[in-house]
Amino acid sequence: MREVDFQRKPVMAGNWKMFKTSAETRQFFKVFNTLVARVDHCEIVIAAPFVSLVVAVEETAGSPVRIAAQNMHWEAQGAFTGEISGPMVHAVGCNYVIVGHSERRQYFGETDETVRKRTAAALEHGLTPIVCVGERLEERETGMTEDVLTQQLTGALRSLTVEQFSRIIVAYEPVWAIGTGRTATPAIAAEAHEVLRIQAAKQFGEDSAAGLRILYGGSVKPDNVSGLMAESGVDGALVGGASLDPQSMALIVNYSGESF
Ligand code: PEP
Repeated sequence: MREVDFQRKPVMAGNWKMFKTSAETRQFFKVFNTLVARVDHCEIVIAAPFVSLVVAVEETAGSPVRIAAQNMHWEAQGAFTGEISGPMVHAVGCNYVIVGHSERRQYFGETDETVRKRTAAALEHGLTPIVCVGERLEERETGMTEDVLTQQLTGALRSLTVEQFSRIIVAYEPVWAIGTGRTATPAIAAEAHEVLRIQAAKQFGEDSAAGLRILYGGSVKPDNVSGLMAESGVDGALVGGASLDPQSMALIVNYSGESF
């Protein structure tokens, strides 16, 4: 098993996307809570849809599971019909928020600049942002991966202080691997994580970058998670489809195969 660097406690996070009503959220946690009740080798995070956040927080009280929103606006309040702010997300009991997911970039006009604003606002309002970056297939195929990752990371983090940087999590999610069943090999993931860590070191210094947790996301499943987690630069997973089922998410949380 990989050596756990306690500066970088692994994070196993589920992203439910636009799935699960409040009732389905309750059903999920009735099963999932019992499966992960004694976990302390990693942080467990579930990103539920906005309308299921209250129920998710209620159902996980007293468990090791923490709840995330999947997005938030950068303004604290205002005339932004249909938007949800950081203070609102924090007030319902969330500890984390996903920002810059590729589906938001692809379908909702998210840019590096809006990711930067959401990241800064999340930190301001006491939330841990999980900042997503990742290249598209054509970018990988044309040798652009390193440039894209560097640009996305720099763009999202450029206004942060070193102290703020120490409170973020980054998720490397190659777009070609999301929801496609096509996972990056552990070597591909490790290489991309190294690119991101080197860039973070340039921006925030070696020591700060050494403490950054970088998750891998893209078709993570119970049968491929242990290979990915064996890479020392991979500090956890952001899991979409396989997080919807409590048994499969619990197997992913228990990536080393040890009982807990
Ligand atoms: C995601 O939604 O962040 C994701 C990685 O999805 P999937 O695991 O289904 O590829």
